[in-house]
Amino acid sequence: MVKYIISHKNPDTDTICSSIVYSNYLNSENIEAVPIKLGNLNNETKFILEKFGFEIPITKLSLDENSEVILVDHNEETQSIDDLEKLKIVGIIDHHKFKLKTSEPLMIRAEVLGSTCSILSKIFFENGYDLSKNEASILIAAILSDTLFFRSPTTTNDDKLIVDRLNKVAKIPDLENFSLEMFEAKSDLGDISTEDLIKLDYKVFDFNGKKFGISVMETTNPNYGLSRKDEIIAKLKEIKKRENLDGILFSIVDILNEVNSTLFSDDFEKEVLFKVFKVKGEDNFVDLGNRVSRKKQLVPFLEKYFE
Ligand code: MN
Ligand code: MN
Repeated sequence: MVKYIISHKNPDTDTICSSIVYSNYLNSENIEAVPIKLGNLNNETKFILEKFGFEIPITKLSLDENSEVILVDHNEETQSIDDLEKLKIVGIIDHHKFKLKTSEPLMIRAEVLGSTCSILSKIFFENGYDLSKNEASILIAAILSDTLFFRSPTTTNDDKLIVDRLNKVAKIPDLENFSLEMFEAKSDLGDISTEDLIKLDYKVFDFNGKKFGISVMETTNPNYGLSRKDEIIAKLKEIKKRENLDGILFSIVDILNEVNSTLFSDDFEKEVLFKVFKVKGEDNFVDLGNRVSRKKQLVPFLEKYFE
């Protein structure tokens, strides 16, 4: 039975590269596997797949009942394919907190590493999988993307060692320069609509019954986001209402200077942000300092606040 390797909604480079290389690996083990995406790729991921000659995974927003799925780079229902409860989750490979109830035993590989592609690389090393130059290259790209070239506090020493080992195969001459090319591609947003801008890297969390949407725009050009502040705030209000959210945030993360400027929609989020992060701000805007990681520096504190 074919296994669908499901990447998360509003896909990023880590989840997409995970789904592609893990499918290749399973296929090499004579297990039929197909990578699935749930939405459009961002410009960074497009740049990476094109550069290293990979096909863009097919989009499937639903699957037949009882289809076998493996979730990569996520485990929360709100971030996964619709009607997940009607599917058979046979595996999860992830580096996020877990919030999933399953009805049957399954293979789970979770580690505290900077990216899911770091976990996969370990699996490949352990099993002697013969990575191609291009596979090793997109694994490196995903690790550099998720760790913001090792700047994010989610980075571990293992991530660096794994990149070194992968680069013996990938032979990327200048990793820092390569990461800059990726971040430039990601920051090149042109005249993207405000809704698409917010949904590029957007996740919905359940904080003890409170539904919170948190969008992160990682960029080398924060002024682009700040110049669109008013329309972003207006759109945040609209999405909050339409999606029945309790809160919604839009963080502009300056990758190179490691600064987080966060926009919010109304007084509710304002109060939460002021209390949780001990900050002050005006005009639907707060400076969250060097909190560049949603996973490690935003979500745990918000979750605790609502407990
Ligand atoms: Mn991800
Ligand atoms: Mn990830």
